[in-house]
Amino acid sequence: MSDPISQPCSDPGPTRALSHQAAPRLSIVIPLYNESDSLGALHARLKATVDTLAINEHELIFVDDGSRDDTYGQVAVLAATDPALRAIRFARNFGKEAAMAAGLRAARGDVVVLMDGDLQHPPEQIPAMLGCWRQGAKMVTMVRKSRDTDPWLRRVLSRGFYRLFKRVSEVALAEGGGDFRLFDRAVVDAINSLPERTRFMKGITSWVGFRQETLEFEPAERAAGTSAWSLLHLLRYALDGLSAFSTLPLRIWSMIGVFMAMCSGLYGVWLIVRTVIWGTDVPGYASVMVSGLFLSGVQLIGLGVLGEYIGRIFTEVKQRPLYLVAERIGFDEANR
Ligand code: UDP
Ligand code: MG
Repeated sequence: MSDPISQPCSDPGPTRALSHQAAPRLSIVIPLYNESDSLGALHARLKATVDTLAINEHELIFVDDGSRDDTYGQVAVLAATDPALRAIRFARNFGKEAAMAAGLRAARGDVVVLMDGDLQHPPEQIPAMLGCWRQGAKMVTMVRKSRDTDPWLRRVLSRGFYRLFKRVSEVALAEGGGDFRLFDRAVVDAINSLPERTRFMKGITSWVGFRQETLEFEPAERAAGTSAWSLLHLLRYALDGLSAFSTLPLRIWSMIGVFMAMCSGLYGVWLIVRTVIWGTDVPGYASVMVSGLFLSGVQLIGLGVLGEYIGRIFTEVKQRPLYLVAERIGFDEANR
């Protein structure tokens, strides 16, 4: 039996007849922050999709990232009627990356689907993702066909970010690939084994490797509410990603430093030669000011870059947990 595949995998590989592949256990992990308005529709659409799948069993893992609205109350109501629903509630808002990490740690399935809770990631794509996994993919990344649902400034900035990332980092990110992905158990175990605290899921998923496929999908408009990501928030996220996966910002300053030292050495030699030949003249006040200011600017930037990485080291050595859990539903004591 096979699932309806709306789009073929880009590179269908050999299908191996593993027993769990015929009827896998599926986990669907969803971070939620103030999503009470779309929760009912989300749950209904997930259930309708899951019912069409040839799977053994499924679980829905809703991670409430410290919502300020009634999200968790509604999750609890849904969980009362749906035994497949398991929920985690954070003690406060720890951010989407932490929520995704918690969900991936809790997931028990052979296949794990990660998606947003605002219905921008249509649950109806899950059969196609599963089909791709059946053909041997260990990770299926859903890539947006268009960014039309984003404001233009965000589109421009994010395109620039992907270009920059590709140049300076050891991992390449799938452009337009968000957090709508399917993982094989092997990939989930690999991700769960990473100890770092500054999480950048887009980078982590490329870093772990494995056989990756992409499928295109058309993102929907947000079902309700507004995006929790302001531009400043996104900029911070981009800096986190860059400094977590690239050391170029550190190295580039030593290169500039060497270059400037060489230039000033040559300039010094020229000054000596000039003084010997033409004697001293009154040195220009402007040029002294300009070079002084320029150098202090470069030094400040260099310090800032160092600060970025030292901040990262600081968060890692503090050894704080990624998140704190206030409540759980559907977790027995042995499986915490
Ligand atoms: N989210 C979260 N914690 C946060 C912000 C967002 O768990 O601090 C969740 C949110 O509920 C949604 C997903 O992450 O399920 C994507 O968030 P959003 O739609 O705000 O991001 P965008 O689609 O604009 O990238
Ligand atoms: Mg969204």
